[in-house]
Amino acid sequence: MVHIEQASEPQLREQLADLLDRYDQLAAGKLALDLTRGKPGAAQVALSDALDGILEGDYRAADGTDVRNYGGLDGLAEARILFGNVLGTLPEETLVGGNSSLTLMYQVIDFALTEGLRGPESAWARREPVKFLCPVPGYDRHFSICEYLGIEMLPVRMLETGPDMDQVEGLVAADPAIKGIWCVPRFSNPSGCVYSDNTVERMARLPKLASPEFVVMWDNAYAIHSLYDDAPELASIGKWARQFDTMDGIFQFGSTSKVTFAGAGVAFMGSSERNLSTFKAHLAFQTIGPDKVNQLRHVRFLRDAETLAAHMAKHAAHIRPRFDCVLDILDRELEGTGMASWTQPRGGYFISVDALPGLASEIISLADKIGVKLTPAGATFPYGKDPEDRNIRLSPTFPSLEDLQTSIDAFALCVKIASIRQRLG
Ligand code: PLP
Repeated sequence: MVHIEQASEPQLREQLADLLDRYDQLAAGKLALDLTRGKPGAAQVALSDALDGILEGDYRAADGTDVRNYGGLDGLAEARILFGNVLGTLPEETLVGGNSSLTLMYQVIDFALTEGLRGPESAWARREPVKFLCPVPGYDRHFSICEYLGIEMLPVRMLETGPDMDQVEGLVAADPAIKGIWCVPRFSNPSGCVYSDNTVERMARLPKLASPEFVVMWDNAYAIHSLYDDAPELASIGKWARQFDTMDGIFQFGSTSKVTFAGAGVAFMGSSERNLSTFKAHLAFQTIGPDKVNQLRHVRFLRDAETLAAHMAKHAAHIRPRFDCVLDILDRELEGTGMASWTQPRGGYFISVDALPGLASEIISLADKIGVKLTPAGATFPYGKDPEDRNIRLSPTFPSLEDLQTSIDAFALCVKIASIRQRLG
């Protein structure tokens, strides 16, 4: 297909007629395909079925603790070692909690907002407004937390190296109402980008430029989710933070939602010992302790860094063909047409597509009408509003390869129809 800017009007009209024929054929096929959320596929969750029954009646942790009983707000010692390794934090800087890292993130924000990380005077809500930096496109559930808690969101540009740090540093230095920033540093949701070493170093230094209660929310949800051998590594923010003495301003998160069972795994967080001890004082009013039985099951199953890596390679074997499928179709159908650009992540769960400005909602609605559900337009932006209406998040992990192929073919068709219609005016 020729570049949309170079095609003549009659060429475009002819192409559109063909495309609409194919669209009608697909509509008649009554598809029911769903690419909305980044869920692991059924074969992926089955990789961890051995969790069921793995304890075989041995409920004792390494130090003799009976995990069937109450206690241990920090989580099991061996779980803190295993998951501290994932985050790059020491066991004493690691807390292992329940089933969801999103819950831990919500609790940290809620605590900092209403009670204060350094006592009541430091509570963000003492001074209005409270603002947060949101690199865009980003993860919708981060933005929902801010919106729900009345925190004003300021979008920040994402570059190939991560958030635009010149913009970030300029904003935090100028406005003490900015209390934090959301980051998904490795295989970002949705762009798949990995923050560069320089971005990580500058992010670790950021609390020094910002208001004293500023927090970097380092959501490392895809820390170990590489798909290809050349996947870039992520520098350790903890290493830099120790050097800059900013550990108090950094909260790291992760979970096994996309390692074992989504929603029935283990979540963990890392920060300074001081932060963890204040956070635990707050947590103690909400729970007597986490589900240590599940933590022990995870430790017995995932064991050590080597076992974990071998397990993640099995996930990659499932996801890689799906990423290849999406990227191949986008290349074949849209490369050189000037109708869209997209990311080529080396890991994670998403591929991010930018359509021509003003077309994301229309493309998503065209796809919806023929039975292909995509993440709603605007979902990757604060308040659900993409100012240019162009970003679309594709989540290829859950469907079968065959369904995925049909969905992405249909998606590419919708991109072409919307783009040509716009061009024809
Ligand atoms: N963080 C990011 C960036 C995610 O993409 C997701 C799920 O898609 C989560 C957190 C949710 O994690 P959890 O299941 O541990 O709450």
